[in-house]
Amino acid sequence: MRAALLREINTNLIIEDVSVAEIGPGEVLVRTVACGLCHSDLHFVEGKLPQKLPTLLGHEVSGVVEAVGVDVDEFAPGDRVVGCLNTHCFQCRQCVEGRTHLCEMRLALQKRPDGSSRIRFGDEEVFQLAGLGGFAEMMLAHRSGLTRVPDGLPLDVGALLGCAVITGVGAVFNTARLRAGSTVAVVGVGGIGLNIIQGARLAGAERIIAVDVRQDKLELAASFGSTDGVLGGGVDVAAEVVELTKGGVDAAFEAIGFAETANQAFRMTRRGGATYLAGVSATGTGYDFTGNDLVLGGRSVHGVYMGSNFFKRDIPMLANLYLQGRLKLDELVSARISLNEINDGFSAMKNGDVARSVVVL
Ligand SMILES: [Zn+2]
Ligand SMILES: [Zn+2]
Repeated sequence: MRAALLREINTNLIIEDVSVAEIGPGEVLVRTVACGLCHSDLHFVEGKLPQKLPTLLGHEVSGVVEAVGVDVDEFAPGDRVVGCLNTHCFQCRQCVEGRTHLCEMRLALQKRPDGSSRIRFGDEEVFQLAGLGGFAEMMLAHRSGLTRVPDGLPLDVGALLGCAVITGVGAVFNTARLRAGSTVAVVGVGGIGLNIIQGARLAGAERIIAVDVRQDKLELAASFGSTDGVLGGGVDVAAEVVELTKGGVDAAFEAIGFAETANQAFRMTRRGGATYLAGVSATGTGYDFTGNDLVLGGRSVHGVYMGSNFFKRDIPMLANLYLQGRLKLDELVSARISLNEINDGFSAMKNGDVARSVVVL
């Protein structure tokens, strides 16, 4: 099958012919329909997250089941599915406590039980990111990395439920458990930020302040439910948010993964407020807030990993919100591209041009 491989850090992906292993126990073979380009994929391209090369990226993915392993009764050929990188075992301490997104076996489940990869390029093993590898015509995944979605959900936009949407809306619903009437700031209006904004709208936030360095993104944010916009670049955005809210927000969300924007988000919170870091940062990123900022201000900082999701519950729930007209998905997609155009999609992301490019296979 054709797959877009990363063979060297900081180079273009190359479309190559790769082979997929025979379907094994616990596995599901999926014909890929769509896969979104996520900032985390870009981090891998740029070598900011650890990996083994060659890598098959793509983890925001949808498709149709072609075949299932002998012991898999959860899926059948023809099922429409969305993937999520949170493979889980349902047996470890995290899983039995309901935190499948923190499963201790997650990485092991992304490979075969013997540690081998499901994808090969010639005689090389291909690192299948998230155990998915959505930038390819087919995907052989562990059943715990997939969930069925309702028939009415278009799969090109449905793919986004698996990362950007579940990370953003999940940060609000699952991690922050935002109360109606809360005041919120969202720093960084990209794929995750827009979903934090619409999550906050769905949760009944009274005031939702979008912060970005681009005016067009603030306008897009308003269409997703922000009530105010603060344009960054050369101004003290934290001071502006504190002024706008007469003392700071209850919850500030950082959706990019930079130290500077995380520090800004923290300084936007009122006493007793909470900061949620939802953007994946480069390895080694640290922050400015001090112990007494936390203790004397009664503030907290939370890492939000993938929206603290329980994705087999959350993705169908989000799909139904979309089908009810309450969750925006179509508006998140700014470009549909072919697999051959994938490098242009990453260039656009680096330029900050788009909400989301989606590869449609
Ligand atoms: Zn992602
Ligand atoms: Zn587990």
